[in-house]
Amino acid sequence: MPASGPLLDTFGRQADDLRVSVTDRCNFRCTYCMPAEGLQWLPKTELLTFEELTRLVALFVRLGVRSLKITGGEPTVRADLPVLARMFREVGPDLDISITTNGLLLDKLARPLAEAGVDRATVSCDSLLRHRFEEMTRRDALDRVLRGLAAAEDAGLTPIKINTVVIGGTNDDEVVDLARWARTTGYEVRFIEYMPLDAQHAWEREKVVPGARILRAIHATHPLVPDGPTNEPATTYRFADGAPGRIGVIASVTEPFCDTCNRLRLTAEGQFRNCLFALEETDLRGPLRAGASDDDLEALIRQGVWSKWSGHRINHPDFVQPERSMSMVGG
Ligand code: SAM
Repeated sequence: MPASGPLLDTFGRQADDLRVSVTDRCNFRCTYCMPAEGLQWLPKTELLTFEELTRLVALFVRLGVRSLKITGGEPTVRADLPVLARMFREVGPDLDISITTNGLLLDKLARPLAEAGVDRATVSCDSLLRHRFEEMTRRDALDRVLRGLAAAEDAGLTPIKINTVVIGGTNDDEVVDLARWARTTGYEVRFIEYMPLDAQHAWEREKVVPGARILRAIHATHPLVPDGPTNEPATTYRFADGAPGRIGVIASVTEPFCDTCNRLRLTAEGQFRNCLFALEETDLRGPLRAGASDDDLEALIRQGVWSKWSGHRINHPDFVQPERSMSMVGG
Protein backbone atom coordinates (compact mmCIF):
# COMPACT_ATOMS: atom_id res chain seq x y z
CA MET A 1 0.00 0.00 0.00
CA PRO A 2 1.49 3.40 -0.96
CA ALA A 3 2.39 5.47 2.11
CA SER A 4 2.28 8.73 0.16
CA GLY A 5 0.88 10.17 -3.06
CA PRO A 6 -2.73 9.90 -4.22
CA LEU A 7 -5.30 7.61 -2.59
CA LEU A 8 -5.11 4.41 -4.61
CA ASP A 9 -6.80 1.04 -4.37
CA THR A 10 -5.44 -2.30 -5.53
CA PHE A 11 -7.22 -1.93 -8.89
CA GLY A 12 -5.35 1.29 -9.65
CA ARG A 13 -8.34 3.57 -9.12
CA GLN A 14 -7.59 6.94 -7.60
CA ALA A 15 -10.09 8.34 -5.10
CA ASP A 16 -10.52 12.10 -5.26
CA ASP A 17 -14.23 12.63 -4.60
CA LEU A 18 -15.55 12.70 -1.03
CA ARG A 19 -19.19 12.68 0.03
CA VAL A 20 -19.64 13.87 3.56
CA SER A 21 -22.88 13.20 5.34
CA VAL A 22 -23.50 15.90 7.93
CA THR A 23 -26.63 14.35 9.45
CA ASP A 24 -28.61 11.12 9.25
CA ARG A 25 -31.90 12.99 9.73
CA CYS A 26 -34.24 13.88 6.92
CA ASN A 27 -37.38 15.99 6.60
CA PHE A 28 -38.72 13.84 3.73
CA ARG A 29 -39.73 10.20 3.89
CA CYS A 30 -39.16 9.03 0.32
CA THR A 31 -40.82 5.66 -0.07
CA TYR A 32 -37.74 4.12 -1.72
CA CYS A 33 -35.44 5.31 1.06
CA MET A 34 -37.04 5.21 4.50
CA PRO A 35 -40.27 4.23 6.26
CA ALA A 36 -43.04 6.77 6.96
CA GLU A 37 -42.16 6.91 10.66
CA GLY A 38 -38.49 7.71 9.93
CA LEU A 39 -35.52 5.88 11.41
CA GLN A 40 -33.83 5.77 14.79
CA TRP A 41 -31.78 8.98 14.56
CA LEU A 42 -28.26 9.19 15.93
CA PRO A 43 -27.88 10.97 19.26
CA LYS A 44 -26.14 14.32 18.88
CA THR A 45 -23.03 13.15 20.71
CA GLU A 46 -22.43 10.55 18.02
CA LEU A 47 -22.42 13.06 15.17
CA LEU A 48 -19.07 14.46 14.15
CA THR A 49 -18.76 18.05 15.31
CA PHE A 50 -18.00 20.85 12.85
CA GLU A 51 -14.38 20.84 14.05
CA GLU A 52 -14.06 17.07 13.60
CA LEU A 53 -15.64 17.18 10.16
CA THR A 54 -13.38 20.02 9.09
CA ARG A 55 -10.26 18.31 10.38
CA LEU A 56 -11.10 15.21 8.35
CA VAL A 57 -11.97 17.21 5.24
CA ALA A 58 -8.64 19.06 5.51
CA LEU A 59 -6.87 15.72 5.72
CA PHE A 60 -8.70 14.34 2.69
CA VAL A 61 -7.79 17.49 0.76
CA ARG A 62 -4.15 16.92 1.65
CA LEU A 63 -4.55 13.37 0.32
CA GLY A 64 -5.78 14.55 -3.07
CA VAL A 65 -9.55 14.93 -2.74
CA ARG A 66 -10.68 17.60 -5.20
CA SER A 67 -14.43 17.37 -5.03
CA LEU A 68 -16.56 17.51 -1.89
CA LYS A 69 -20.25 16.80 -1.74
CA ILE A 70 -22.19 17.82 1.36
CA THR A 71 -25.00 15.34 1.82
CA GLY A 72 -27.09 13.46 4.37
CA GLY A 73 -29.78 12.47 5.42
CA GLU A 74 -30.90 15.93 4.49
CA PRO A 75 -27.88 18.21 4.96
CA THR A 76 -29.92 21.39 5.32
CA VAL A 77 -31.47 20.16 8.58
CA ARG A 78 -28.08 20.31 10.29
CA ALA A 79 -28.12 23.56 12.26
CA ASP A 80 -25.78 26.30 11.04
CA LEU A 81 -24.84 24.46 7.84
CA PRO A 82 -23.44 27.63 6.20
CA VAL A 83 -20.96 27.94 9.09
CA LEU A 84 -19.74 24.42 8.36
CA ALA A 85 -19.61 25.10 4.61
CA ARG A 86 -17.41 28.11 5.28
CA MET A 87 -15.09 25.99 7.43
CA PHE A 88 -14.81 23.48 4.55
CA ARG A 89 -14.06 26.29 2.12
CA GLU A 90 -11.31 27.62 4.38
CA VAL A 91 -9.47 24.28 4.42
CA GLY A 92 -10.12 23.63 0.73
CA PRO A 93 -9.85 26.89 -1.20
CA ASP A 94 -9.68 25.01 -4.52
CA LEU A 95 -12.24 22.31 -3.71
CA ASP A 96 -15.28 21.88 -5.89
CA ILE A 97 -17.93 22.01 -3.15
CA SER A 98 -21.49 21.00 -3.89
CA ILE A 99 -24.55 20.11 -1.86
CA THR A 100 -27.07 17.36 -2.51
CA THR A 101 -30.42 18.31 -1.02
CA ASN A 102 -34.13 17.73 -1.34
CA GLY A 103 -34.41 21.50 -1.80
CA LEU A 104 -37.10 22.06 0.83
CA LEU A 105 -35.07 24.59 2.83
CA LEU A 106 -33.11 26.09 -0.06
CA ASP A 107 -35.45 29.08 -0.31
CA LYS A 108 -33.83 30.31 2.92
CA LEU A 109 -30.42 28.64 2.73
CA ALA A 110 -29.29 28.95 -0.89
CA ARG A 111 -27.79 32.40 -0.50
CA PRO A 112 -26.01 31.81 2.83
CA LEU A 113 -24.58 28.59 1.43
CA ALA A 114 -23.35 30.29 -1.72
CA GLU A 115 -21.84 33.10 0.35
CA ALA A 116 -20.11 30.51 2.53
CA GLY A 117 -18.39 29.05 -0.53
CA VAL A 118 -20.63 26.26 -1.85
CA ASP A 119 -20.28 26.14 -5.64
CA ARG A 120 -23.24 24.11 -6.85
CA ALA A 121 -26.45 22.38 -5.83
CA THR A 122 -27.97 19.07 -6.81
CA VAL A 123 -31.65 18.92 -5.92
CA SER A 124 -33.69 15.74 -5.76
CA CYS A 125 -37.02 15.87 -7.58
CA ASP A 126 -38.84 12.72 -8.62
CA SER A 127 -41.94 14.23 -10.16
CA LEU A 128 -43.37 17.48 -11.42
CA LEU A 129 -46.89 16.35 -10.54
CA ARG A 130 -47.90 17.56 -7.10
CA HIS A 131 -49.82 14.42 -6.09
CA ARG A 132 -47.07 12.10 -7.29
CA PHE A 133 -44.33 14.14 -5.67
CA GLU A 134 -46.27 13.80 -2.41
CA GLU A 135 -46.81 10.10 -2.96
CA MET A 136 -43.07 9.50 -3.49
CA THR A 137 -41.66 11.78 -0.79
CA ARG A 138 -44.61 11.63 1.65
CA ARG A 139 -44.49 15.44 1.71
CA ASP A 140 -46.73 17.85 -0.17
CA ALA A 141 -43.75 20.04 -0.96
CA LEU A 142 -43.28 20.35 -4.71
CA ASP A 143 -44.02 24.09 -4.76
CA ARG A 144 -41.54 24.82 -2.02
CA VAL A 145 -38.86 22.71 -3.70
CA LEU A 146 -39.42 24.65 -6.92
CA ARG A 147 -39.03 27.88 -4.95
CA GLY A 148 -35.83 26.45 -3.46
CA LEU A 149 -34.55 25.73 -6.96
CA ALA A 150 -35.26 29.29 -8.02
CA ALA A 151 -33.39 30.55 -4.95
CA ALA A 152 -30.43 28.29 -5.76
CA GLU A 153 -30.28 29.66 -9.28
CA ASP A 154 -30.56 33.19 -7.99
CA ALA A 155 -27.73 32.59 -5.53
CA GLY A 156 -25.50 31.20 -8.29
CA LEU A 157 -25.40 27.57 -7.09
CA THR A 158 -25.12 26.58 -10.73
CA PRO A 159 -25.08 24.56 -12.93
CA ILE A 160 -28.01 22.95 -11.15
CA LYS A 161 -28.42 19.22 -11.31
CA ILE A 162 -31.63 17.37 -10.55
CA ASN A 163 -31.62 13.82 -9.16
CA THR A 164 -34.66 11.80 -10.19
CA VAL A 165 -35.02 8.23 -8.97
CA VAL A 166 -37.07 6.35 -11.55
CA ILE A 167 -39.33 3.59 -10.23
CA GLY A 168 -41.21 1.34 -12.62
CA GLY A 169 -44.97 1.82 -12.41
CA THR A 170 -44.59 4.99 -10.33
CA ASN A 171 -42.88 7.80 -12.26
CA ASP A 172 -41.38 6.15 -15.35
CA ASP A 173 -44.13 7.68 -17.50
CA GLU A 174 -42.76 11.12 -16.67
CA VAL A 175 -39.21 10.91 -18.01
CA VAL A 176 -39.97 12.80 -21.23
CA ASP A 177 -41.73 15.57 -19.28
CA LEU A 178 -38.71 15.84 -16.99
CA ALA A 179 -36.44 16.02 -20.04
CA ARG A 180 -38.63 18.84 -21.37
CA TRP A 181 -38.15 20.56 -18.01
CA ALA A 182 -34.36 20.31 -18.49
CA ARG A 183 -34.78 22.00 -21.87
CA THR A 184 -36.76 24.92 -20.47
CA THR A 185 -34.72 25.46 -17.30
CA GLY A 186 -31.21 24.55 -18.43
CA TYR A 187 -30.90 22.05 -15.55
CA GLU A 188 -29.12 18.73 -15.91
CA VAL A 189 -31.77 16.15 -15.05
CA ARG A 190 -30.11 12.92 -13.96
CA PHE A 191 -32.21 9.80 -13.89
CA ILE A 192 -31.06 7.35 -11.20
CA GLU A 193 -31.86 3.66 -11.29
CA TYR A 194 -33.64 2.44 -8.17
CA MET A 195 -31.01 0.71 -5.98
CA PRO A 196 -31.31 -1.85 -3.17
CA LEU A 197 -30.48 0.69 -0.48
CA ASP A 198 -33.89 1.29 1.08
CA ALA A 199 -34.21 0.88 4.84
CA GLN A 200 -37.30 -1.30 4.44
CA HIS A 201 -35.53 -3.80 2.15
CA ALA A 202 -38.50 -3.64 -0.21
CA TRP A 203 -36.44 -3.14 -3.38
CA GLU A 204 -37.58 -5.24 -6.33
CA ARG A 205 -35.53 -5.71 -9.47
CA GLU A 206 -38.74 -5.53 -11.55
CA LYS A 207 -39.11 -1.89 -10.51
CA VAL A 208 -35.68 -0.89 -11.83
CA VAL A 209 -36.13 1.04 -15.07
CA PRO A 210 -32.95 0.55 -17.12
CA GLY A 211 -31.13 3.75 -17.99
CA ALA A 212 -31.00 2.63 -21.63
CA ARG A 213 -34.82 2.50 -21.75
CA ILE A 214 -35.07 5.99 -20.26
CA LEU A 215 -32.67 7.34 -22.85
CA ARG A 216 -34.56 5.68 -25.71
CA ALA A 217 -37.83 7.26 -24.58
CA ILE A 218 -36.30 10.74 -24.39
CA HIS A 219 -34.28 10.36 -27.59
CA ALA A 220 -37.45 9.46 -29.54
CA THR A 221 -38.95 12.86 -28.73
CA HIS A 222 -35.89 15.04 -28.14
CA PRO A 223 -32.84 13.56 -29.90
CA LEU A 224 -29.75 13.43 -27.70
CA VAL A 225 -26.03 13.68 -28.36
CA PRO A 226 -23.61 12.09 -25.86
CA ASP A 227 -21.17 14.34 -24.04
CA GLY A 228 -17.58 13.23 -23.89
CA PRO A 229 -16.42 11.08 -20.96
CA THR A 230 -16.52 12.85 -17.59
CA ASN A 231 -15.35 12.01 -14.11
CA GLU A 232 -18.98 11.58 -13.06
CA PRO A 233 -21.04 8.43 -12.57
CA ALA A 234 -23.70 9.95 -14.80
CA THR A 235 -23.42 9.44 -18.53
CA THR A 236 -24.55 12.80 -19.88
CA TYR A 237 -26.20 13.98 -23.07
CA ARG A 238 -26.97 17.29 -24.74
CA PHE A 239 -29.98 17.99 -26.88
CA ALA A 240 -29.22 17.63 -30.58
CA ASP A 241 -31.22 20.76 -31.44
CA GLY A 242 -29.03 22.89 -29.16
CA ALA A 243 -31.68 23.44 -26.49
CA PRO A 244 -30.28 24.23 -23.05
CA GLY A 245 -30.08 21.62 -20.32
CA ARG A 246 -28.66 18.15 -20.17
CA ILE A 247 -29.78 14.64 -19.47
CA GLY A 248 -27.80 12.28 -17.27
CA VAL A 249 -28.30 8.64 -16.50
CA ILE A 250 -26.89 6.90 -13.43
CA ALA A 251 -27.34 3.25 -14.30
CA SER A 252 -25.82 1.76 -11.15
CA VAL A 253 -27.82 -1.45 -11.46
CA THR A 254 -27.89 -2.27 -15.17
CA GLU A 255 -24.55 -0.68 -16.20
CA PRO A 256 -22.35 -0.42 -13.11
CA PHE A 257 -19.49 2.03 -13.41
CA CYS A 258 -17.37 0.61 -10.57
CA ASP A 259 -14.27 0.35 -12.82
CA THR A 260 -13.93 4.11 -12.81
CA CYS A 261 -15.30 4.84 -9.34
CA ASN A 262 -13.37 7.63 -7.63
CA ARG A 263 -15.69 8.11 -4.65
CA LEU A 264 -15.30 7.89 -0.93
CA ARG A 265 -17.86 8.47 1.78
CA LEU A 266 -17.87 9.66 5.36
CA THR A 267 -21.00 9.01 7.40
CA ALA A 268 -22.42 11.53 9.85
CA GLU A 269 -20.94 9.59 12.77
CA GLY A 270 -17.48 9.32 11.23
CA GLN A 271 -17.46 5.94 9.53
CA PHE A 272 -15.36 5.93 6.39
CA ARG A 273 -16.75 3.90 3.46
CA ASN A 274 -15.07 3.07 0.18
CA CYS A 275 -18.30 2.07 -1.61
CA LEU A 276 -22.00 2.87 -1.36
CA PHE A 277 -22.58 -0.86 -1.01
CA ALA A 278 -19.62 -1.63 1.28
CA LEU A 279 -20.27 -4.17 4.00
CA GLU A 280 -17.32 -2.99 6.04
CA GLU A 281 -16.28 0.49 7.10
CA THR A 282 -13.44 2.18 8.95
CA ASP A 283 -14.15 4.01 12.17
CA LEU A 284 -12.47 7.42 12.13
CA ARG A 285 -14.43 9.01 14.98
CA GLY A 286 -13.06 6.66 17.67
CA PRO A 287 -9.40 7.34 16.86
CA LEU A 288 -10.15 11.02 16.28
CA ARG A 289 -11.67 11.36 19.75
CA ALA A 290 -8.90 9.24 21.28
CA GLY A 291 -6.27 11.74 20.12
CA ALA A 292 -5.04 10.19 16.85
CA SER A 293 -2.55 12.28 14.89
CA ASP A 294 -3.15 13.22 11.25
CA ASP A 295 -0.59 10.58 10.30
CA ASP A 296 -2.55 7.92 12.22
CA LEU A 297 -5.77 8.98 10.49
CA GLU A 298 -4.04 9.06 7.11
CA ALA A 299 -2.89 5.47 7.58
CA LEU A 300 -6.48 4.39 8.38
CA ILE A 301 -7.82 6.24 5.33
CA ARG A 302 -5.17 4.77 3.02
CA GLN A 303 -5.95 1.28 4.30
CA GLY A 304 -9.68 1.90 3.80
CA VAL A 305 -9.16 2.98 0.20
CA TRP A 306 -6.68 0.18 -0.50
CA SER A 307 -9.25 -2.43 0.57
CA LYS A 308 -11.91 -1.19 -1.90
CA TRP A 309 -13.42 -4.09 -3.79
CA SER A 310 -13.58 -4.25 -7.57
CA GLY A 311 -17.27 -3.46 -7.58
CA HIS A 312 -20.67 -3.86 -5.98
CA ARG A 313 -22.40 -7.23 -6.21
CA ILE A 314 -25.99 -6.16 -6.98
CA ASN A 315 -26.13 -8.43 -10.00
CA HIS A 316 -24.52 -11.42 -8.31
CA PRO A 317 -26.40 -14.17 -6.48
CA ASP A 318 -24.27 -13.52 -3.38
CA PHE A 319 -25.37 -9.85 -3.12
CA VAL A 320 -25.92 -8.73 0.45
CA GLN A 321 -27.68 -5.42 0.99
CA PRO A 322 -25.66 -3.23 3.36
CA GLU A 323 -27.19 -2.59 6.76
CA ARG A 324 -27.06 1.14 6.17
CA SER A 325 -29.76 2.57 3.96
CA MET A 326 -29.03 5.37 1.51
CA SER A 327 -29.89 8.11 4.01
CA MET A 328 -27.54 6.61 6.60
CA VAL A 329 -24.65 6.28 4.15
CA GLY A 330 -24.88 9.70 2.56
CA GLY A 331 -25.98 9.28 -1.03
N1 SAM B 1 -31.54 14.41 1.20
C1 SAM B 1 -30.62 14.71 0.13
C2 SAM B 1 -31.33 14.60 -1.20
O1 SAM B 1 -32.55 14.44 -1.23
O2 SAM B 1 -30.67 14.73 -2.23
C3 SAM B 1 -29.34 13.92 0.14
C4 SAM B 1 -29.36 12.48 0.55
S1 SAM B 1 -30.34 11.44 -0.49
C5 SAM B 1 -30.15 9.89 0.33
C6 SAM B 1 -29.35 11.35 -1.95
C7 SAM B 1 -30.00 10.79 -3.17
O3 SAM B 1 -30.21 9.41 -3.00
C8 SAM B 1 -31.36 11.39 -3.50
O4 SAM B 1 -31.35 11.88 -4.81
C9 SAM B 1 -32.29 10.22 -3.36
O5 SAM B 1 -33.37 10.32 -4.24
C10 SAM B 1 -31.38 9.06 -3.69
N2 SAM B 1 -31.86 7.76 -3.20
C11 SAM B 1 -32.33 7.43 -2.00
N3 SAM B 1 -32.68 6.13 -1.93
C12 SAM B 1 -32.42 5.61 -3.15
C13 SAM B 1 -32.57 4.31 -3.74
N4 SAM B 1 -33.07 3.29 -3.04
N5 SAM B 1 -32.17 4.15 -5.02
C14 SAM B 1 -31.67 5.18 -5.74
N6 SAM B 1 -31.50 6.42 -5.25
C15 SAM B 1 -31.88 6.64 -3.97
